[in-house]
Amino acid sequence: MSAAEKITTLYPRQSDDQQRLAALHRYDALDAPASEDFSFLTELAAKVCDVPYAFITLVDTERAFVKSCTGLALDSLPRSQCYCALAVLGDNATEICDLSKDARTAAMPLTTAAPFMRMYSSVPLTSSEGFAIGTLCVMDSKPGCLSTSQRDMLRKLARQVMALFELRANDRALKASVDELATLATTDELTGLHNRRSLMNRLRFEVARTRRFRTPLSAVMVDLDRFKNINDEFGHQFGDEVLAAIGRLVRENVRVIDVAGRYGGEELCILLPNTPLEGARKFAETLRSRIEAQVHSTGARAVTVTASLGVGSFNHMDIDDADMLLKQADAALYRAKANGRNCVEG
Ligand code: GH3
Ligand code: MG
Ligand code: MG
Repeated sequence: MSAAEKITTLYPRQSDDQQRLAALHRYDALDAPASEDFSFLTELAAKVCDVPYAFITLVDTERAFVKSCTGLALDSLPRSQCYCALAVLGDNATEICDLSKDARTAAMPLTTAAPFMRMYSSVPLTSSEGFAIGTLCVMDSKPGCLSTSQRDMLRKLARQVMALFELRANDRALKASVDELATLATTDELTGLHNRRSLMNRLRFEVARTRRFRTPLSAVMVDLDRFKNINDEFGHQFGDEVLAAIGRLVRENVRVIDVAGRYGGEELCILLPNTPLEGARKFAETLRSRIEAQVHSTGARAVTVTASLGVGSFNHMDIDDADMLLKQADAALYRAKANGRNCVEG
């Protein structure tokens, strides 16, 4: 018997268990630390039903994850040892008045060992697609059943639990869209680098930080050499591909604290926080040689491109603001072009 067959025989599952699990996982609620609003709902459930134990349980692939508990501290249980895994199968196991007398639950550890559970009553937690992803359940070590009004309250509380899961999921989706929009608004589409507006914002921020903490800050201006010729010879589309490849190369060669942006056309600017002039020159030289070594293929031809680089550095005396830093780097770039290109100045 295969492992999967064994589990199925030992413990039944719905034919649509995979879809049910997909619905559960979309809420991204497993393994998150306990939170007060869920605890409040289990406390309320125990009180309303006049029993010592209440749980919010999510029935995962092989385990039941306890999202919140009152009366007994539980993290998770194997799916085969959990009453809730039965309850998510359908109506006939949502309420069991004596767990020790029901063939499905009599041998389960919570029944046979302390706290010797006897009564179990639950309401499924139903996802927006209609799948039972888990339960809100109450238990007692005495046999018994809930009254109609207690079950009614438990149903209402289960709706509150689901409302909380939906709210959390919506919050996460909203945050993800905001993050995506922020990335789109600050990224240059072709190169994947910061766009000019974002670069200038970050420059102002880094300059303020440098002045405040008296740390070094350098800027490297990069302009591709004779790039017009590349466009003229191989077409604008190929020129774009080269720019994208150089953007990737730059991203791979900067530290997380560096800010690499597209300053304009085929001109890039890299801000190097905490880096004095000498370090920035070394960085620029490495980048120059890597740009030169990168091979771009078009049809049967392999093309290489070079760049000229100018380095500017904040020194708290001659240079004291963002404009001056860029002007210094630009002037150095101009000298690099005048000195024959494919070199670093600054
Ligand atoms: P050099 O910098 O060495 O003096 O010569 P250059 O030919 O590179 O001259 P310059 O920097 O003044 O001109 C930039 C050229 O880069 C002009 C334009 O054809 C090209 N370019 C600018 N932006 C893009 C772009 O987004 N895509 C493509 N394919 N080409 C661009
Ligand atoms: Mg150029
Ligand atoms: Mg240019």
